[in-house]
Amino acid sequence: MIKFCSLYSGSSGNSIFLSSGKTKILIDSGLSGKKIIEALSSIGENPTELSAVLISHEHIDHSRGAGIISRKFDIPIYANLNTWNAMESTVGPVCSNNKIYFNTGSGFEIGNIFVNPFPIPHDAVEPVGFNFFVENKKITTATDIGHMNRQLLTYIEGSDVLLLESNHDVEMLKMGKYPWSLKKRIMGDRGHLSNEMAGKVVAYLAQKGTRRFVLGHLSRENNFPELAYQTVKNILKEKSIDIAKDIMLSVASRGQASEAVVI
Ligand SMILES: [Zn+2]
Ligand SMILES: [Zn+2]
Repeated sequence: MIKFCSLYSGSSGNSIFLSSGKTKILIDSGLSGKKIIEALSSIGENPTELSAVLISHEHIDHSRGAGIISRKFDIPIYANLNTWNAMESTVGPVCSNNKIYFNTGSGFEIGNIFVNPFPIPHDAVEPVGFNFFVENKKITTATDIGHMNRQLLTYIEGSDVLLLESNHDVEMLKMGKYPWSLKKRIMGDRGHLSNEMAGKVVAYLAQKGTRRFVLGHLSRENNFPELAYQTVKNILKEKSIDIAKDIMLSVASRGQASEAVVI
């Protein structure tokens, strides 16, 4: 049985739980250790049983609580070398046994889960998304994406479950109170994926067979869950894809664990 659950999702902090049997992984740990432990216990999981914490990139909303979890429960952290170097001060001291390096583009195993970290366009040193191959399923997490491109599509295609960024509504962002430099960064090629782009990607992948989508990493200022959901739903409708019949679409909560996908 695979359990996949977003614990927190959004610009204020991200963490996702994935398990198969005894293998239990956290993808990102971007909140305080206390918050992560709370969310794990709310879904009946114990941090002492974690096999690993994977870090997608050094931004604080993905790395903040990783060091605490590692030190407190003796859990290994996995990241690529550039990310390790960039997040050193955020994560703090981690014992060498728990400091694991992976290479972007090279797969590795954690227990019975095969992990493939793939490159994503974002303004961090070496950001990645993750494919997980487990129990004949492919599960993918892809947030903090400036734009979609052909290479990225090949990594996320064919997933059974995809957690995809749906960060902002472009009009809300343009009209909002952020300074222009920040707006430009978010809308830029290495910023964040808009609701509309997420909708196009979901429509494309739904036509290729993916059935479960979770929208995540919503901006607090420039988005809200109903808007992200409705924007994607409208784009699907244009392509004659029916949410109730053809696919499952949900939005990951910002401040609490979302309903787990169990397959
Ligand atoms: Zn980021
Ligand atoms: Zn982020």
